Amino acid sequence: MNKIRIDLSQDEIPTVWYNILPDLPEELPQPIDETGKSFETLKKVLPSKVLELEFSRERYVKIPDEVLERYLQVGRPTPIIRAKRLEEYLGNVVKIYLKMESYTYTGSHKINSALAHVYYATQDGANFVTTETGAGQWGSSVALASALFNIKAHVFMVRTSYFAKPYRRYLMQMYGAEVHPSPSDLTDFGRELLAKDPNHPGSLGIAISEAVKYAEEHGGKYVVGSVVNSDIMFKTIAGLEAKKQMEMIGEDPDYIIGVVGGGSNYAALAYPFLGDELRSGKVRRKYIASGSLEVPKMTKGVYKYDYPDTAKLLPKLKMYSIGSDFVPPPVYAGGLRYHGVAPTLSLLMNKGIVEARDYSQEESFKWAKLFSQIEGYVPAPETSHALPIIEEIVKEAKKSGEKKIILVSFSGHGLLDLGNYASVLFKE
Ligand SMILES: *Cc1c(COP(=O)(O)O)cnc(C)c1O
Repeated sequence: MNKIRIDLSQDEIPTVWYNILPDLPEELPQPIDETGKSFETLKKVLPSKVLELEFSRERYVKIPDEVLERYLQVGRPTPIIRAKRLEEYLGNVVKIYLKMESYTYTGSHKINSALAHVYYATQDGANFVTTETGAGQWGSSVALASALFNIKAHVFMVRTSYFAKPYRRYLMQMYGAEVHPSPSDLTDFGRELLAKDPNHPGSLGIAISEAVKYAEEHGGKYVVGSVVNSDIMFKTIAGLEAKKQMEMIGEDPDYIIGVVGGGSNYAALAYPFLGDELRSGKVRRKYIASGSLEVPKMTKGVYKYDYPDTAKLLPKLKMYSIGSDFVPPPVYAGGLRYHGVAPTLSLLMNKGIVEARDYSQEESFKWAKLFSQIEGYVPAPETSHALPIIEEIVKEAKKSGEKKIILVSFSGHGLLDLGNYASVLFKE
């Protein structure tokens, strides 16, 4: 019998994170401090160890015991599930393995780095952490991590989501976090925007600016949710587990696919595999990442230096971007709305090592419904944007006549996003 579920035991959890910096095909372009103030800001607000790791050239970094213990608590190691019924539906020309990051307590991959950032904040003696959140996945993971490390969390939540999508806010509040609609009256920047428009919808870029400012002014630590090297490194626990799991069953993926908001879940799964190939000098596997056609930073963005936040408090990063002042249309895959792509992933895309696709919400959601009926599991709206890639691979496999193995970053479940699906799929 072919196994449906590939598990690691608790003893088999990886004890190091992987850092791709030393294995990149060329040096990563460094952040630029154009305002003359942004590095100073970072030094103040980031946990000191996080800032150190951001520039580390160490390939493997030991995971602190305190973080490992909490990885186990929140559901790690996560299983890999073979999507057998989907394979059959698609004509048995591919094998599909899903790395189920949706199996953690907050239902997505985001807890993997939240625990590390918050732990390092406590090591600096911080009394509270701040962060931003769009639809609330990142905020709820920071809220959970803060609860498990006994520290206060202030979460700046994009104003429209705060009111329109209260369920993840309630989850954050269950964990004891204080959630503020952003723009808020807690920072000068927020007050300025509210004075111009009391119903300002907010954006992720604005919420980042507020979270940074609030931490700076009140002596807290700021927790970064994606994009940066350290955040991706912390999340590679998923890819390192997946490597062990694939080795256990003697399968080597031909394709590694996933979706890109800021790029962290995809990079976290792909980098441990890609790192081996980069070191050997030959990249055989195909790496394909997809995003939202409504926020097409990868396929229509420009590879250039841009600000990661709207108020330009943070250093400029070289990345694919559609502009830090881009106001995204109200798409429901909140986690894909960010304007830029992680610098390491951008470099790999620019070199042609990672390919990019964008799919519409409509197409992705149709796939989500189909997937739910075939596999019995409701994917997050973000995750559903990876499913059309499978269709492309199936076409290729049919042409070549070779059975292809696909590994998917299954970044989250959609049980708190049913309202979003309903708005598109079940219009009255
Ligand atoms: C946040 C999120 C994403 C996208 O963010 P990345 O930084 O690209 O990982 C994808 N899927 C889910 C379920 C998310 O919550």
